[in-house]
Order: sequence, then C-alpha cells, then structure tokens
Amino acid sequence: MKLYMFQCGILKTKKHLITMGRGIGQPFDVPVPFFLIKHPRGNVLFDTGNALAVVNNKAKHWGTVVESYDPVMTKDDYVVAQLAKVGVKPEEITHVIFSHLHLDHAGGTGEFSNAIHYVQRTEMQYAYMPDFFQAGAYIRADFDKPHLNWHLLEGYQDDCYDVLGDGKLQIVFTPGHSPGHQSLLVKLEKWGPTLLTGDSVYTEEILEEDVLPGLVYSPPDAVKSIKKMRDLRRVNGVRIITGHDPIAWAKFNLAPACYE
Ligand SMILES: [Zn+2]
Repeated sequence: MKLYMFQCGILKTKKHLITMGRGIGQPFDVPVPFFLIKHPRGNVLFDTGNALAVVNNKAKHWGTVVESYDPVMTKDDYVVAQLAKVGVKPEEITHVIFSHLHLDHAGGTGEFSNAIHYVQRTEMQYAYMPDFFQAGAYIRADFDKPHLNWHLLEGYQDDCYDVLGDGKLQIVFTPGHSPGHQSLLVKLEKWGPTLLTGDSVYTEEILEEDVLPGLVYSPPDAVKSIKKMRDLRRVNGVRIITGHDPIAWAKFNLAPACYE
C-alpha cells in the first residue's frame, strides 16, 4: 500500500480564519491537500481539491468566499492532472472518500464515475441546506451529482468503517468542523499508522493547543474530535496529518514521491 500526497494550489486567507481569535487580519497562505492510496484492492482518493472552474473564473464558481479564502491554482493543480503524474486515470479510481463537502475538498466530484463515493449522510444533507455561516463553503454544482455511486455513512454507527476489508483503511468519524466530517486512517507498513484529518484539525497549533478552528460548525464536537486524534496518537502511535498547515505540509514529499 502506498500513500501519495498532492496539493491543489493554495488559499490566500487570514490567520484568524484558521485559528479562531489568533492573528487577526494577518495574511496566511495555506495549502489545499488531497491524497491517493494505492492498495492491491483499489485506488482510493481522499478528497478532490478545488474545481477546475476555479482556474479561470473563481469568483463566478466560488462567489464571495474568494474575499476570505482566495484560491490560487493552475489547471495542472487539478485532481485529474495531478493523478496523471502517478499514472492513474480517473476511471481507475475505485473509491472516493470525502472528509466533507466544502469547496476545497469536493471540487473534483464527478470525475471518477467508476468509484464508490463515501460521505457521511449528515454532511450530504447539510451541504444542501447549510446555515448562513457555512453556506459559502458548499458549492452545489460541485457535489450535486446523484447519478454517482454514493455510499452514505451513519456517523458513530459506522465509526472505523473498514473500506477494503483488511483493516488497513478505516474511515474515522470526526465531526465538528462540519456536521459530517470524517478522517481516514491509513495503516502503512513502514511509515506507520497515519490519520488524514481533512479539516478536523487545520494546523499543528490547533492539534497541540486549545484553540478552535476559524470555521467550525460545532465547537464541542470539534474539541471531542481533536481529543480523539490526540488519543489515537498517544495510545496507538498514529501520525496526524493536519489539513491546512503551511509549515507541517512543507515537510512532506509530494507525489510522485510516496510513503509506504
Ligand atoms: Zn472545510
């Protein structure tokens, strides 16, 4: 099993939108990660980055969100172009797992017609009818694709969902940032167990200190999910890959390099 890391450009934002109450107004550029796991039983994508439409007309596709989170990407950063770098065609993707359906995670939805698409039911429902403070983060044109093969997961009832039947890829329910947020535990042989956290923990500052993410649906759930990750690290030695940390992210080798 191999883990590949990709970056779909950056978001130009402000520090306080990443760490609540800290760095008010400070410019802060964050990466937009997504991941591929090559496993003998399939090619599994975790998140899909920004939509291709962002390249040429971000204000039209994302609306006023660009005033807070300004995406900078080229067409070569798009998920399909990036997968080509490691020789994977869209039709060869067997599973797409969405941490959640925010615009920088669900932009490539619809490119992988042979795949089963895993998302939490609560996330899918909320994406259609979000509260005002999350409305800008869900672009219906990205995820409203009912013809796809969707597998809706049921929160804690499906916690540690075993994706491929061998225990090596497990979906861990980590709500808080959004109602149906989930993370992916990848049990790599050499690098060790690794948790891809989506947006449930943006940065190492949030992982290590008691600070909330700048955008959060439920603070109590977010705090419990972060505690769950700390426990996984302490008890099981799980490596935590944060979601939008420019410093931590720069230490990883992006594809075509991989981790085994
Ligand atoms: Zn998000």
